[in-house]
Amino acid sequence: MVILMAMEDELLESLKKKPVTLRFPYERARPEDRMQAKVTWEIEKCIGCNLCVKVCPSNAIKLIGRGRKAEIRYHVGRCLFCGECVDVCPTKAIQTTKEFELAFTKPEEMILEFRR
Ligand code: SF4
Ligand code: SF4
Repeated sequence: MVILMAMEDELLESLKKKPVTLRFPYERARPEDRMQAKVTWEIEKCIGCNLCVKVCPSNAIKLIGRGRKAEIRYHVGRCLFCGECVDVCPTKAIQTTKEFELAFTKPEEMILEFRR
């Protein structure tokens, strides 16, 4: 009986609260300030040093060409959003974004190219 009364109280209490779930996609959670998701390049800042390729734990970055003519091929599907490439880049050519809602219909859409 005591348990039933406690459950009743809890039920009445929860009816007063707003739902914790969101009506996605009409409602979206605000990303946390420190959140890091997909990365992006300002390719004109890239000097082709290859450090981002070496540091990437999931082999998500490929350098096409050399030096200041180098271009980047980024495999989003492999990216762990760890931000190691952002930290290692000596020219700040890579930035992290808060773009985490990533959906693709074809595998090739997961490969992004940053060209000069
Ligand atoms: S964020 Fe991490 S996993 Fe993604 S490309 Fe950069 S180093 Fe690789
Ligand atoms: S670490 Fe920066 S400068 Fe070096 S290849 Fe990667 S993007 Fe270019």
